[in-house]
Amino acid sequence: MNSVNNEFKHIVMPQMLSLGANMLQSLPEIIDRLSLGNNILLITDDYLRTRLAKDVESILEDSAKKVTVSIIKDSTLEEVDSQSKILHEAKTEFVLGLGGGRPIDIAKLVSFKANQRFISIPTICSHDGIASSRASITGSGKKHSIQALPPIAVVADTKILDQSPYRFSAAGCGDILSKETAIKDWTLAHRLKNEPVSEYSIALSQMTVTLITNNADVIRSQVEGYTRIVIKALLSSSLAMCVAGSSRPGSGSEHMFSHVLDSIAEKPALHGEQCALGTLIMAYLHDLDWKAIRLIMQKIGLPIKAKDLGLSEEEVIEALKTAHSIRPERFTILGKEGLTHEAAIRAVETTGIVDDIS
Ligand SMILES: [Zn+2]
Repeated sequence: MNSVNNEFKHIVMPQMLSLGANMLQSLPEIIDRLSLGNNILLITDDYLRTRLAKDVESILEDSAKKVTVSIIKDSTLEEVDSQSKILHEAKTEFVLGLGGGRPIDIAKLVSFKANQRFISIPTICSHDGIASSRASITGSGKKHSIQALPPIAVVADTKILDQSPYRFSAAGCGDILSKETAIKDWTLAHRLKNEPVSEYSIALSQMTVTLITNNADVIRSQVEGYTRIVIKALLSSSLAMCVAGSSRPGSGSEHMFSHVLDSIAEKPALHGEQCALGTLIMAYLHDLDWKAIRLIMQKIGLPIKAKDLGLSEEEVIEALKTAHSIRPERFTILGKEGLTHEAAIRAVETTGIVDDIS
């Protein structure tokens, strides 16, 4: 007999998603519509300080807003503490995070700790943390994912995103393609372990893959405004995670593989690049059409070989053998014990990620 889930559930989502060319000019209007106040902490990095942060500052000051610009050095918990101090001293009412991953992650946590809201202003579209509720922070040499709140608004200026290096946008597509295996891992955990799934969240996450797959050629052409497609997919993926209340619809075994690479590789590649590579292997393990995924990666211009990402055979095999242990509570195709050495070699050889190991 079919049953209905009557458990309490709260879905926390961003209130406003604003995307388009020159959207930055609308920032004061967005702030006013959300009644966020006039005293702002703008968290950014050293690179943007004399560039885009200056523009943001003058747009806001022209609208009689008071801005305290604060530069982060890294993405550690110590940095969160020092930014929190600045927030309290300046008595700000809300926070803006401007940049790639790090300023947004720090802004997310600083505002969460202070019980203030924050607006995410991404300058690259390389991963789906832009609008998610989780922040990636470094502590004792490792990356940790900490629960916070999603931004109240995301302001994505496609003119700025179009100008960012293409490698970042391609990596963003890689992060989206990885949803294919993340969803399979989730449904597998449902079938084998009775883990609850959200059909709504899965449909949303699957839609992001379709968006990238159907538009691979347009993305590769880098035609004006192409980043709108990438950012739309990334935002929708963040929303899928908001619906699920966890990163389940967007992060499975392929993400675990990438997380291990982040800690063991001499020179890790971009998150989305590593996740896409992991997706090929996990798709092979799930018996999916991994060749079709590889074709899309090639169309987008994502590397399909470990060496093209600066990763060695040993690093890739080690990551594959240990990926299952990085998050034991999350059941995936890797199971409880992971792959044997021989199976790991076969997986990377079959998918062509490394050339035949003699
Ligand atoms: Zn990701």
